[in-house]
Amino acid sequence: MSSDSGRPFQTPRGTRDLLPEDHAIHTHILDHARNQARLAGFGFIEPPTFEQAELFARGVGEGTDIVEKEMYIFEDRGGERLALRPEGTASVCRAYLQHGMANLSQPVKLAYHLPIFRYERPQAGRFRQHTQFGVEAIGVRDAALDAEVIDLGWRIAETLGLSDLKILINSIGDIEDRRAYVPLLKDHFEPHIERIAPDDQARWDRAPMRLLDSKDDRTRPYQDGAPLITDHLRPESAAYYDAVKSHLEAIGIPYEETPTLVRGLDYYTHTVFEIVPAHADGSQVTVLAGGRYDGLIEQIGGPPTPGIGFGMGLERMAHHLREQGLAPDADASTGVLIATLGEGADIAASKIAGDLRRQGVAATLAFGGRSLKAQLRQANRSGARYAVIAGARDLADGHVTIRDLQTSDQRQVELGDVVGQLAGELTNPPYTRPQD
Ligand code: ATP
Ligand code: MG
Repeated sequence: MSSDSGRPFQTPRGTRDLLPEDHAIHTHILDHARNQARLAGFGFIEPPTFEQAELFARGVGEGTDIVEKEMYIFEDRGGERLALRPEGTASVCRAYLQHGMANLSQPVKLAYHLPIFRYERPQAGRFRQHTQFGVEAIGVRDAALDAEVIDLGWRIAETLGLSDLKILINSIGDIEDRRAYVPLLKDHFEPHIERIAPDDQARWDRAPMRLLDSKDDRTRPYQDGAPLITDHLRPESAAYYDAVKSHLEAIGIPYEETPTLVRGLDYYTHTVFEIVPAHADGSQVTVLAGGRYDGLIEQIGGPPTPGIGFGMGLERMAHHLREQGLAPDADASTGVLIATLGEGADIAASKIAGDLRRQGVAATLAFGGRSLKAQLRQANRSGARYAVIAGARDLADGHVTIRDLQTSDQRQVELGDVVGQLAGELTNPPYTRPQD
């Protein structure tokens, strides 16, 4: 099969196939993330992959890169304007409102694992479809909750074995704090506006705080000496930030105050944080990022409702685990490979394989009717622990041979004992029939 251009089909630019070895790492990360989220009292949610485009325009913010340049928007056949989800928070907040979750005990804590779509310029660690594990805790504004959410992110990294990461935190205040602060920031950049990067010039009006964390060399020289939001917080905002830090200290996790840390989404208020490698710079390496978003739910039509959450990029986390030598091996999915010899042996082999699987032992046939030697070579290469050699003549006598692929020892066993003997040694959880 090939495309119109005559070239073989390929994944669209900026996307990739998650192959079994990648998938094993993603599953490994998710196992830890889900487990830690459960320990912190999070339930799980899965919103649809597309929503009304307007949800993101309002929730994420008209002026953001995501809404302005990166959304996959389409009209469906009924003329509705939809968008592939460019982030998880707005969807979860929409679900919170739609299902009346304000009536539940607060905060409502929800975790998710979702593909995210952004029309970005593809580069290392930056895809047009990536996957986030994220959490949202909605309905309460309490510094202890901010610390709990940050701690959850940190523990996911920790239980994965990562020790070379650090937490960056900042407070970006609320609308009122920023009303006083942003003019000072603009005064600082104003004299240089012609010389800073064009992209940053465009941010000047809609998201001036982003100039502080611009990575562009044309903007960077002018970041020195810029006024910092943390020096201009109202006393109550500063007290909230102090309280978050006290809770983090009580929990005993390290953090680095980073007054230039701002986030790319409009909805953040007060606490923002990222988890980044301790020895690298550049924004592509952030593995987890989040913050408080006390204005978001109101923006999408609900009553004023505070919330806080984070998103963790699975591809970046996987890359990082690989770099640190902490990635698990791809699942050795085969415990037993059944080799056959002679007429009709494959029928017996199918039965043995089925019986083994029902006892929770991963088993497969060699297939293809090749020589016994070729089948045993395949067994060795497959990572299987044992080979069962089912020969037509032996089968007629009621037995088969089990070959230990690590030691090459062979023993003959009664056909009726094969499953019992192998199931005792290979330890996957037993299969239970749905009706049992
Ligand atoms: P960045 O500054 O790297 O663009 P962001 O601020 O856009 O990140 P968020 O929207 O907060 O990121 O997403 C949370 C996490 O999802 C990021 O910290 C990162 O790990 C991951 N992520 C974001 N965009 C991408 C992408 N295009 N490809 C892969 N992972 C991504
Ligand atoms: Mg981004």
